[in-house]
Amino acid sequence: MSGEVILVVEDEPTIAEAIASRLRSEGYEVSVAIDGPGAVERCSELAPDLVVLDLNLPGFDGIEVCRRIHSFRQVPVVMLTARDDETDMLVGLGVGADDYLTKPFSPRELVARIKAVLRRAAAAGSGTGPTLSFGPVKIDPSTRRITEAGGDVHLTPTEFDLLRALAEAGGAVLSREQLLAMVWGYRDGSGARTVDSHIRSVRAKISTDLIRTVHGVGYALNKAAIPDRGATR
Ligand code: CA
Repeated sequence: MSGEVILVVEDEPTIAEAIASRLRSEGYEVSVAIDGPGAVERCSELAPDLVVLDLNLPGFDGIEVCRRIHSFRQVPVVMLTARDDETDMLVGLGVGADDYLTKPFSPRELVARIKAVLRRAAAAGSGTGPTLSFGPVKIDPSTRRITEAGGDVHLTPTEFDLLRALAEAGGAVLSREQLLAMVWGYRDGSGARTVDSHIRSVRAKISTDLIRTVHGVGYALNKAAIPDRGATR
């Protein structure tokens, strides 16, 4: 592995140590913080490639840690929660984590999620392709910039890739399994609620009704909401 640096923020010593030793065995350089203020401090010293961040922490919680570390750098975050409904709450708040994992999880699953998030973050500087325009929304794959009516829309790398996949499908329906494979690189169909969560998050950030839910199937770009595909203004 490439020796990427991962900051693990977890106040339960046994969980923190289990995560850290597994990640070290995968070749990552790992540092551990055990509370909110410590996490923010370590993050600014260390400039890690990714942060594994527990939600419930002493000092202040993972939401506040996420907000503070993102105020100086868009480091990818994998958030650990105790319950599925906490994940829904975080997505609703637009906390800006790239992925969520509910405890208990297997070390193998955490490693798979981390690799996928790092892969997407690495791709973030190397996009290509023409700008896609949908009414007031423009998606530029080469700069990974999205604007709506000229104003910047701030999506996480995962949210960007999800919207781009739907945009490039041009109105065709993509199943949750297809989106998991295309965006997350998961081939086993696990994580359907991850797709739903990120769709909700994208919808919260873009006011144009761009994404259509196809019940029982998946998602598609909402052509009815886009009067003139490809039009520029
Ligand atoms: Ca905790």
